Amino acid sequence: PSPTLRNPEEWCRSFNYFISQCLIKDFEARPSVTHLLEHPFIKQAQGKDVALQQQLAALILEQQEAGCKTKTKHERINTRKTLIIESCPDDDLVNLEFLDEETIISHLQKRYDELQVYTYVGDILIALNPFQNLSIYSPQFSKLYHGMKRADNPPHIFATADAAYRGMVTFCKDQCIIISGESGAGKTESAHLIVQHLTFLGKANNRTLREKILQVNPLVEAFGNACTAINDNSSRFGKYLEMKFTPTGAVIGAKISEYLLEKSRVIKQATGEKNFHIFYYIYAGLYHQDKLKTYSLPDRTPPRSEQHQHRTVMQDIVSSKLYKEQFDAIQEGFRNIGFTEEEVNSVYRILSAILNTGNIEFASITTQHQTDKSEVPNAEALETAASLLSIGPEELQEALTSQCVVTRGETIIRTNTVDKAADVRDAMSKALYGRLFSWIVNRINSLLCKHSGMNVGILDIFGFENFKKNSFEQLCINIANEQIQFYFNQHIFALEQMEYQSEGVDASLVEYEDNRPILDMFLQKPMGLLSLMDEESRFPQATDQTLVDKFEDNLRCKYFWIPKRVELCFGIQHYAGKVMYNVNGFLEKNRDTLPADIVVVLRTSENKLLQQLFSSPLTKTGRLRQLSMKNIEMKTIVDTMEMMRHPEETTSMRRQTVASYFRYSLMDLLSKMVVGQPHFVRCIKPNDDRQALRFCKERVMVQLRYTGILETVNIRRQGYSHRITFEEFVNRYYYLAFRAHQMPETSRENAVAILQRAKLEGWVLGTTKVFLRYYHVEQLNLLLREV
Ligand code: ATP
Ligand code: MG
Repeated sequence: PSPTLRNPEEWCRSFNYFISQCLIKDFEARPSVTHLLEHPFIKQAQGKDVALQQQLAALILEQQEAGCKTKTKHERINTRKTLIIESCPDDDLVNLEFLDEETIISHLQKRYDELQVYTYVGDILIALNPFQNLSIYSPQFSKLYHGMKRADNPPHIFATADAAYRGMVTFCKDQCIIISGESGAGKTESAHLIVQHLTFLGKANNRTLREKILQVNPLVEAFGNACTAINDNSSRFGKYLEMKFTPTGAVIGAKISEYLLEKSRVIKQATGEKNFHIFYYIYAGLYHQDKLKTYSLPDRTPPRSEQHQHRTVMQDIVSSKLYKEQFDAIQEGFRNIGFTEEEVNSVYRILSAILNTGNIEFASITTQHQTDKSEVPNAEALETAASLLSIGPEELQEALTSQCVVTRGETIIRTNTVDKAADVRDAMSKALYGRLFSWIVNRINSLLCKHSGMNVGILDIFGFENFKKNSFEQLCINIANEQIQFYFNQHIFALEQMEYQSEGVDASLVEYEDNRPILDMFLQKPMGLLSLMDEESRFPQATDQTLVDKFEDNLRCKYFWIPKRVELCFGIQHYAGKVMYNVNGFLEKNRDTLPADIVVVLRTSENKLLQQLFSSPLTKTGRLRQLSMKNIEMKTIVDTMEMMRHPEETTSMRRQTVASYFRYSLMDLLSKMVVGQPHFVRCIKPNDDRQALRFCKERVMVQLRYTGILETVNIRRQGYSHRITFEEFVNRYYYLAFRAHQMPETSRENAVAILQRAKLEGWVLGTTKVFLRYYHVEQLNLLLREV
């Protein structure tokens, strides 16, 4: 082979499966070079250089010759038998002869070592994070996977996107792709790749629309992603992106829904973590445009006190080239998508106001009559923030340091202690950021989603979390995952049942571990954990201790317990493992109150955007679509959604707790998902050091377990894991009942003849397939070796 071949071994490896399939199907008729050159994989290979492709084809043939160039017929038959035994189409785990954990892991490891990061488990795609750039995402690869059958190419994220697209066009049915996995596993990257392939397929006639859609993700992620200890670009919100298409499959728009933004990051970040990307981008970008002053951002390191240091943006940020480039991209994105200059300007002003608000400090003043009063010693920060928000500084100070309380028809003004004032300040920053984020998302939707159409939705949602200390946020995230897992189980389970039923095989054999009882415990009304928490949040006197007591008194469920020696904690046995939650601050986080005084002041702003943010309650309310489902799978899910329907669904933002809002969002998300055909992508992080080519078995095992992959494999294993068409079965195993040179008819009768001759027990016949248990295949292969 010529040295100019680009990594031919790598290509050949991808072909092993293809070749062995050719050999088994058509042992005598080996493909010629011309034949191979027609194959789409080769057509795209070697930068489309035909001469190089010919060399590649020759190389493949050479490999093949080595495998089957044998002298006698007898030897040839033996070679074919060996191929049958050894050729497990290794890109789908359910085809593995042994379905135990160890085999699955070793198999994935082998593939990972060969840079095959994608593997199927039935119709689920496992994506191992390569932690390096692979050259398999170019438009050539989009072409390669376009409209192809799954078996034609190695597994790929484009194949999943393609299947969803085809499902939508062929069956006129909405589709959804659910991407899950832990932080840093590659969900967001996968979502980008899917959008990339879908825009390729959706051939937007209008190029600008395609560009706009491609800019949505980076724009939203600038506001919703941040650098964490685990991932430099960690999504701190859940995202459901719907790509809209015409019935013929032309892309016409996009719509985003966002879930559970981690607003507290604006106020505080754990050691080694950062604020949302956008703060660094604007700082660097505006510095380079010499506009820091316009937005009242000091060009030196802003003043910072010990305890508030996290709120400020460091000087060295301004010199970062990367941040500046990102800023330019964001500005370009805003403009391209259609935000007006005035709007973008307001966004920057609000961001800068949030930064400046972080610098407002409080000191206590003691007068003769009052001791718990506070004032702002650094008037400059207050004035800057007020000016950026276009409100009066006195009014702002008033709203921060005191509150109006109405009792028995009388309005009294109470002063805030230093701590209370700081809490109000932080609540204001969080509300500003959270509402700004929602506004940006809504604005993008109004600009990009002008027509309704069929859609492919892509869900990129935070995976299951279990830290040393787990709080309210982890609880919400894990409930969401519990719900998605339920959806997943239902789907897999229903699929299995459908296959059994369509083949006329008894479906009662399909069993799986149902997480419905845990979901009930969380979501039931009025005695579910979330309802209990909401109830407690309504009592002003309630404390974290009374909350735990309430849980203890009311939750009777084996999945919930209160540990003996640890205070203010409760444990939950999730589908993915045990998690211990610390209720410290639960009630406060659930109430997420923004004092009315702050809302009143912000509404007086002369800034139109700000007025808008605080005038209409930004709740996701209204009627959820009515769902009527015939399908059993969907019905059970709609059931759980009904359970979540909250009596206060239409209450205003002020009375709405985070839990009830969350419950609503989750239900809204599910209502979108259940009308579509689902596709699952399970992202797996092969190691914790973000290293390429490092495969840590234990880590992968844990993730396979809680993403339900092992469970899926188990469902199959407990039932009939192998379903082989009569034709394929006879072709493979006819040696066991017929003479080697005889080519028997590939009929049901002959399949039965082979099964009986092999003396297998416990198999079942469907209408077109033989249903075998996992050990049957092993037995058949053993026999094949012996004949
Ligand atoms: P989080 O839950 O924190 O948002 P995530 O699952 O969305 O995490 P990503 O941000 O998608 O994780 O991926 C983390 C990093 O892994 C990326 O920044 C990138 O460096 C690498 N990565 C993921 N997928 C790929 C891929 N297909 N090719 C190359 N690198 C990848
Ligand atoms: Mg992400």
